[in-house]
Amino acid sequence: MKGSAESWIYQPEYEKMSRSKLVDLQEQRLRKVVKYCYEKVPIYRRKFKDVGLHPDDIKTLDDLEKIPFTEKEDLRKAYPYGMLAADLRDVLELHASSGTTGHPTTCAYTKNDLEIWSKVMARIYASAGTKKGDIVQNAYGYGLFTGGLGFHYGALEIGATVLPIAAGETERQITLAKEYGTTILACTPSYAAYLGRYAREKMGIDPSKELKWKSGLFGAEAWSEELRAKIEELLGLEAFDIYGLSEVIGPGVSVECSQHNGLHIQEDHFLPEIINPATGEKVKEGETGELVLTTLTRQATPVLRFKTGDNTSFKIDECECGRTFGRMDRVFGRADDMLKVRGVKFWPKTVEHALLRVKGASENYEIIIERPEELDIMTLRLEPDKELFESVCGDLSKLQVLAKNVEEQVKSIVGVKANIELVPYGTLPRFMGKAKRVKDLRKNL
Ligand SMILES: [Zn+2]
Repeated sequence: MKGSAESWIYQPEYEKMSRSKLVDLQEQRLRKVVKYCYEKVPIYRRKFKDVGLHPDDIKTLDDLEKIPFTEKEDLRKAYPYGMLAADLRDVLELHASSGTTGHPTTCAYTKNDLEIWSKVMARIYASAGTKKGDIVQNAYGYGLFTGGLGFHYGALEIGATVLPIAAGETERQITLAKEYGTTILACTPSYAAYLGRYAREKMGIDPSKELKWKSGLFGAEAWSEELRAKIEELLGLEAFDIYGLSEVIGPGVSVECSQHNGLHIQEDHFLPEIINPATGEKVKEGETGELVLTTLTRQATPVLRFKTGDNTSFKIDECECGRTFGRMDRVFGRADDMLKVRGVKFWPKTVEHALLRVKGASENYEIIIERPEELDIMTLRLEPDKELFESVCGDLSKLQVLAKNVEEQVKSIVGVKANIELVPYGTLPRFMGKAKRVKDLRKNL
């Protein structure tokens, strides 16, 4: 619910900087990090030499385009220590990201990196109204996944109390939320929705009335506005979208403010560009393309022009919250996650967006794509919501109208015909972390 969190600004001296001062700071940091990468990371030195570039050639933000991109594949090849710019003895924390595609990449932090991570995460908490006195229920996975510790450090930095419960043990999450009176929830959006359903259906607890959650920080996967509305209704809190990735720092790159109109990128630490992924050229401001990030202050594993694979847009304009950092649009999905069915390209999030517009459809769904012969067939396996399911005493044949309405919405919004297969409420898997809702069986051919 918009406005239930008392959003504030943690470091106004940076977050409200004038654009000219910010650009000065970015350029000064850019020159430093370029020189640093060139001197410390052989891969960067080679990339620079390949295109005849020297760190002295990079003076202003306009020179950024001269620098070759860093691809995810560079990081994979360099595993375990090839991207490390700092002395290993100065590294205090190591995270290996397995990603969704297999090969690991390393994300390392020096003491200074951890301090910066804590600060950018504290800004994110402040944006969602977190203060000293709040109790943060951190239900992100702790461990090599950067979500858990990132949210942990940020809460400590702001002086809030952390309940480091991690993901899972759903019943205990609700019980402890009630007994300790936690006020802030941090987890993936799929898990937030699941917590809300579980509390109501299995424990008879209405979180919007019986729990004290006032805001939630949800990220690590793409989610739709329709799912936001569901989560806010189920949990009675204000839901904030957050964005980050382990190759850059973990969570902490950007967050929504009270306006919920895009995510402010922490531009003093992360320099954004939006490119056309096919040509590598910059798109016009406000246009959609692939997000490319340069870390301006990272010591252990800095990246120059890292291609995130995430599609979004970026705009610098005034925001009512007072921050001067530009805003990126909510991420629709990673390029890798994009589906192509019968020639139509779309993200799974678009399917969610379409189906949740239909009354009686739940957020529990699965997309199955097959190619039995020449043509792709998409099946959308969907649970009706609990109330509807019970109202027909579990007889799915009585829900043909629901199936038809979902089919029409998907056809009109996604542009692909899907066979709708209704399944009993409670059948599909629930997710504690990142949801896996797509089964593309064509890949097994
Ligand atoms: Zn704002």
